[in-house]
Amino acid sequence: MSDSTRERDITRRDLLAMGGAASASAAIAGPLSPARLLAAGKVPQVPRRVLGKTGKKIPILLLGGAVGFDKRFDPKIAEALRYGVNYIDAADCYNGGSCEPAVASFHTRIKARKDLWITSKSDAHDPKGFETTLNTSLERLKTDYVDMYYLHAFEDGSMLNAELRKVVERLKKQGKLRHFGFSCHDGNVAELLQLAAKTPWVDSVMFRYNFRKYGEAKLNGAIDAAHKAGVGLIAMKTQGSEASFKGAVERFRKQGKWTKHQAVLKAVWEDKRITAAVSHMDTFDKLRENVAAALDRTKLTAAERSALDAYAAATRSLACDGCDHHCNPAVGAPVRIGDTMRFLMYHDVYGEADKARELFQRMPASARALAGVDFSGANRACPNGVDVAAHMKRALQVLS
Ligand code: SF4
Repeated sequence: MSDSTRERDITRRDLLAMGGAASASAAIAGPLSPARLLAAGKVPQVPRRVLGKTGKKIPILLLGGAVGFDKRFDPKIAEALRYGVNYIDAADCYNGGSCEPAVASFHTRIKARKDLWITSKSDAHDPKGFETTLNTSLERLKTDYVDMYYLHAFEDGSMLNAELRKVVERLKKQGKLRHFGFSCHDGNVAELLQLAAKTPWVDSVMFRYNFRKYGEAKLNGAIDAAHKAGVGLIAMKTQGSEASFKGAVERFRKQGKWTKHQAVLKAVWEDKRITAAVSHMDTFDKLRENVAAALDRTKLTAAERSALDAYAAATRSLACDGCDHHCNPAVGAPVRIGDTMRFLMYHDVYGEADKARELFQRMPASARALAGVDFSGANRACPNGVDVAAHMKRALQVLS
C-alpha cells in the first residue's frame, strides 16, 4: 500500500460505501493475506502524518492494544488494517501480558509484519531492565524489531540519562528498535514534554491529552517546544477519563452530527502539532465510528467546538486526570486514588466490570482498604473539584 494510496482524498461516495465494505470484511472467509486485507484502492484509507523526527508517516488513528486482542487472530486488527490503521500500540503489561503474543499471532498468521507499525513499551526504566524487557517483547511479538519502544508511564525524568542513551543507541544499531521515546500519564506531562524537547535521542512522546486540556498555557507551551524540536507527538486518553457520568455523554450525543467520541478525536486531529491519537477500540462499532471521523475532512464547526467546551465545563468535577500527587498525600492512608478512579471508569463507562475488578484486586491490600478512610482532604486537594469521597464509596461497592 503506497503512501499516495493511503492519503488519497476521501469522497462522500467513499464514506457512504464504507458500511458495506466493513460488513463484508467482518465475515472474511477463505485464505487470508495482507494483500486481501489491505485491499488498496478499494477501501478509503485513514490519512497519515509524519511522526516528527522519525520521518515516518503513520495513520492519524492508532489501534490501542490495552483492549485485549483475541490471542488466536483478532479480526478487529484485520479490519483496522483495511482502512490503513496499521499502527498497533502494545505494551509488555497490557491485558495481563497477553497483548504482545496476540499481536504476534495476528502478524505471523498472515505474514504481515512488514505491513504493521508495532510500538511496545517497557515498565522497566533502568538501562538493564529496559534492554531485558525489550528482548522479552521481541520474543513475545515474534519479531526481530519494534518500530518504536517506549518507556511506559514515564515519570522520573532523571532516568533519561547517559547510561540509558548508550543502551538505546546500541539497540538501534543492532536493529532491535527503530525509534525510542516514552509515554506519560501523570501530573508532570508538561515538564516531561519540555525534557523531551531538550533530549535529541527522544524521537516521540505519547501523552495524556484531551479536550479538557486544550486551553492550558503550560501544557501548550510544552507541546510547542516538543513539536519545534521534532518530537513526534501522539495523544492518548483523548476521551478525558470519565467516571460515572454516562448521562452527560448521552446528552452530548444529541447535540450535533458527531458522537462525543468522534468530536474529541476530531478536535485532537485539528491540532497539527499532534501526529495521531491512540484509541481504545474494543468493538467493530467503535472502530468504524472512529475511522469514519478520521476519513471525514470537514472541521468541527464553531457550534460543535462550543458544545465540546460546554461539555468539558459541565463534567469537569466528574473527570479524573490521574494526577494523584495532589490528592493521595491529603489522605492518611496508602490508597491509590488515580488508579482506583481509572478502574471505576473502566467499570462505569467502558462497561468492563471484570477487567476493572481484576485490576483493582491486583493492587496491594493496603491500597484497596478504602472503608473508613476520610477522603475530605482529597476532595479539597483535587484541582478538578472531583468528589473523591463519593467515587471511593462507589469503588468500594463495585470493585471490591
Ligand atoms: S481525583 Fe483529582 S487530584 Fe486525584 S487524581 Fe483525579 S483529578 Fe487528580
